[in-house]
Amino acid sequence: MYLPFNTPGATFHPHATDPSPDCNRHRRVTAAGTVVDVTVYDAVVVGSGPNGLAAAVTLARAGLSVHVVEGAPTPGGGCRTEELTLPGFRHDVCSAAHPLLTLSPFFADPVFDGLRSRLVQPAVPFAHPLDGGRAAAAYRSLDATADGLGPDGAAYRRLLGPFVDGAAELAADVLVPAWRLPRHPVTMARFGAVGLRSAQHVAGRFGTTPARALLAGAAAHAVRPLSAPVTAGFGLLLTAAAHAVGWPVLAGGSAAVTRALLDELTRLGGTLECGRWVGTLDDLPRSTAVVLDVAPAALSGLVGPALPDRYRRAVGRFRSGPGVCKVDWALSGPVPWTAEACRSAGTLHLGGTFEEVAAAEAAVTAGRHPDRPYCIVVQPGVVDPTRAPDGRRTLWAYCHVPNGSDRDMSGAVEAQIERFAPGFGDLVLGRRTVPASRMSDANPNYVGGDIGGGANDLAQTWARPVPARNPYRVPVQGVYLCSASTPPGGGVHGMCGVHAARTVLADLFGGPPPW
Ligand SMILES: Cc1cc2nc3c(=O)[nH]c(=O)nc-3n(C[C@H](O)[C@H](O)[C@H](O)COP(=O)(O)OP(=O)(O)OC[C@H]3O[C@@H](n4cnc5c(N)ncnc54)[C@H](O)[C@@H]3O)c2cc1C
Repeated sequence: MYLPFNTPGATFHPHATDPSPDCNRHRRVTAAGTVVDVTVYDAVVVGSGPNGLAAAVTLARAGLSVHVVEGAPTPGGGCRTEELTLPGFRHDVCSAAHPLLTLSPFFADPVFDGLRSRLVQPAVPFAHPLDGGRAAAAYRSLDATADGLGPDGAAYRRLLGPFVDGAAELAADVLVPAWRLPRHPVTMARFGAVGLRSAQHVAGRFGTTPARALLAGAAAHAVRPLSAPVTAGFGLLLTAAAHAVGWPVLAGGSAAVTRALLDELTRLGGTLECGRWVGTLDDLPRSTAVVLDVAPAALSGLVGPALPDRYRRAVGRFRSGPGVCKVDWALSGPVPWTAEACRSAGTLHLGGTFEEVAAAEAAVTAGRHPDRPYCIVVQPGVVDPTRAPDGRRTLWAYCHVPNGSDRDMSGAVEAQIERFAPGFGDLVLGRRTVPASRMSDANPNYVGGDIGGGANDLAQTWARPVPARNPYRVPVQGVYLCSASTPPGGGVHGMCGVHAARTVLADLFGGPPPW
């Protein structure tokens, strides 16, 4: 049964021009009083990742009737938690650490108070072990972090301080299409001046191995060579977030994001259908708008000949980034990191010095598998005992590999962990590895194992998936794109969905300009 879409808090009514009480076209009450679905919606969303659901919620809040169609048997895309190894061990299938959710204006809404109360903060947001039992650590406190960096402490404080103080302003201006006029021009000008540079350039401000390594670990989330423009921006935003809002994990797992979004959608009368892969838009129930939480590569098949050739060619030039090989473990206990700070870190960046991480990332971009890959490791058990049976732990990791790689990198990832935590191998009770080439089996958006929705090079950070004033519009009446392949890109923040939904409202339902 589909419920009326007139909801408390709607800012305008989509059928304001039709004041009749029967203007809700989406249900009919039979003589017997039964509500019948007539399957005509204001909007159908294809894909229930965080962006698809954020779009659905934004549309439903405006009073629209919304239906979400998901291909996988369970909803959530990048926000799912499952027993991947052994019974009782619950692993985040994709996203695990949530600095971007914590910064996102969308998730700041009071309806997500319950979700935010489940965010649990490790004492150390992220740490970067080095050989010889040392580690660099980003603590919640900027000062404590700077103090830990010794001779580079003052330079670190000078570099990060303005962005930590202005983190909310920064998020408001970064989590939008890049060419929108900034609301906080001073903060953005300062961020642009350093963030558009390469991590290699900015690391020149530091003279010690730990400070340089700390920056390398955060900047490598861009999945680009550290000599490439904008890699500093990735590193600075994520490091500023560590100090300003932390890098929390969700108690019980990232599926909590999906549950919160679906609770809100259902409360607003929206509906969800799982287990139905959409091959063409003709398969969908009728609607005024279709919002696609899909990879650009899927647009051609979904929209068919109606897609203008020029756009088809432009979208065909969209580049995927490198892939990841993901490994999850069930462990008999906590990882025995040699460096103390690593034992209470939620996230760890493995790869050694700046130069080693830079070499590994450059190799991946050149199509090679590094012997010592850069790895991101999350140990939710430092703050969330619910992930595994008593005293046991789950561990989550991935390393970067060339796009489409079918290589099982679990040995290389375990060697990196063992390098900084001797004895790790003795704890392994179970393991599950997904090479990059298999990442898209469960979610076609991860093309060749690219989990960021497209390469984060300068051009695609600026304009994704095509250069356009409003990149959420697909040039076919009523069709929109809302996935991480639109601005502001990858990560769990929901803002691609929000901007796409606002565009739908402005174009088709009399809403205000999207930004
Ligand atoms: C291994 C991994 C680790 C990650 N770690 C983090 C992290 O720690 N923190 C973070 O912030 N981000 C992380 N991310 C990135 C984050 O998960 C994604 O950027 C985010 O989920 C993108 O959201 P989305 O809604 O655009 O797409 P997705 O979450 O990919 O959702 C798309 C949904 O659409 C469905 N779909 C696609 N095509 C169709 C179709 N034709 N028919 C029906 N359904 C379809 C898919 O099944 C999927 O459910 C990680 C991703 C992965 C894979």
